[in-house]
Amino acid sequence: MTEKGYNPYITAQTQFDNVADIIGLDQSVREFLRQPSHEYHFTIPVKMDDGTTKVFNGYRIQHNDARGPAKGGIRFHPHETIDTIRALSMWMTWKCAVVDIPLGGGKGGIICDPHNLSKGEQERLCRGFVRQLGRNMGPVIDIPAPDVMTNGQHMLWMMDEYEVIFGGRYPGVITGKPVGMGGSLGRTEATGYGVIYTLREALKTLNVDITSTTASIQGFGNVAEYAARLYTSMGGKVIAISCWDQQDNKAYTFRNSNGLDIEQMVSIKDSFGTIDKYKAQELGCEILDGGEWIAQDVDILLPCALENQITPETFAKISQQVKIICEGANGPTTLESDELIKARNIYLVPDFLCNAGGVTCSYFEQVQCNMNYFWTKEEVLEKLDDKMTAAFWAVHKLAQDKNLYMRDAAYVIAINRVAKAVKLRGWV
Ligand code: GLU
Repeated sequence: MTEKGYNPYITAQTQFDNVADIIGLDQSVREFLRQPSHEYHFTIPVKMDDGTTKVFNGYRIQHNDARGPAKGGIRFHPHETIDTIRALSMWMTWKCAVVDIPLGGGKGGIICDPHNLSKGEQERLCRGFVRQLGRNMGPVIDIPAPDVMTNGQHMLWMMDEYEVIFGGRYPGVITGKPVGMGGSLGRTEATGYGVIYTLREALKTLNVDITSTTASIQGFGNVAEYAARLYTSMGGKVIAISCWDQQDNKAYTFRNSNGLDIEQMVSIKDSFGTIDKYKAQELGCEILDGGEWIAQDVDILLPCALENQITPETFAKISQQVKIICEGANGPTTLESDELIKARNIYLVPDFLCNAGGVTCSYFEQVQCNMNYFWTKEEVLEKLDDKMTAAFWAVHKLAQDKNLYMRDAAYVIAINRVAKAVKLRGWV
């Protein structure tokens, strides 16, 4: 979404260019990596329940596959733009590289609002997406996964359509599948948990005990929900959660200064992360404007919704108490706001490191599908924690040693790995 004139693709390219300067990247590698290698734009005709046919626009963008097949989610959103998907596909390449898993970067989207689609319509839309992209995706080419407003059921319909077209069983074509149907235990929790594993480590660097901290969260979809659950189980208090209200076409912030009961909040939200405001009121939540999540007197901000939420305008509302920002969302911070975060010396865990837990668990899902042998949830989460913690410390250490901003340090590690792969392959 190019909210308030911010274009995520320009953000992603500018971030890349700045770090390419820092590491003195070759011109040819730079040109190659600052744009996606493949883009597919297509229409998806869907028979609607009322007998009419509606045509949707779908996209899949593969940024780079030097380290392995392209990997990344497919999102449903009414305001999705091609430039957002381009940016997201680039960030996926850096995400897989920073946690050192053998995958490249891709991203897809369908312009739609699933709130307004019946289950049958959603199924036909998912199948239609695969009919259009089928020949250009697959376990060794490009492997989609869930993202904003998509879930395991959508993934399973897509996998099934792929298997119908290509005649065989290809569980490795897609990840985020339901458990028992090729999915991995822990995948649902993975992105949110990963955010909190990095937060836990960041707090260690600041010598702050998690049980004495408070947080405010933007979003209450899959990432935010599991981040909130793990954070509170470790003893932190979530003071505020903001989420989108589809009926009112605006966001609200739900606040309880004594700490929100996350189980209760989950019990009153829909599957897309919208909290029922009437029920929230009955539970004693204060209901504030959607933008208020960022203005709370808390130690930690967890933007876990969409792009371009921390702008200079919203940054001005951030309390002096905030010590850490963990970016559960992709691209929540604009370029100018990075400068403001640096100037205020807030500790940043950048998006493609912070939210890499989802794709890391997707990689584990593929490994388990290849073996056709599935691990226990404890085993999955332990491996996930190891990967996230190791990636966090590698980035933190580089940032300290070279006096780099955390986002730049993460980029240095990721770009170097991908640049090495494209050179070793002899592509540039
Ligand atoms: N959509 C998630 C992300 O942005 C997960 C991608 C995946 O599992 O491939 O990282």
